[in-house]
Amino acid sequence: MIAPEIHLGSVVVLKKGHPCGTNKWEIVRFGADCKIKCLGCGRIVLIDRPTLKKAIKKVMDESNAGINESNH
Ligand SMILES: [Zn+2]
Repeated sequence: MIAPEIHLGSVVVLKKGHPCGTNKWEIVRFGADCKIKCLGCGRIVLIDRPTLKKAIKKVMDESNAGINESNH
């Protein structure tokens, strides 16, 4: 079990992807309820924090330099 450090603006990889084919999501709201935005299609989904934490496979932190895609 990992204890990922997630915060507003974090990009996370979820175990289950979105039907659009992407499984990367950005945290756009982080509180008791969280909102995550699909990086593939921009869809925003409301999810509660325990469920979100369980669904996360990996956190892409800025310090990992893993996010280096162009802005379009
Ligand atoms: Zn999507």
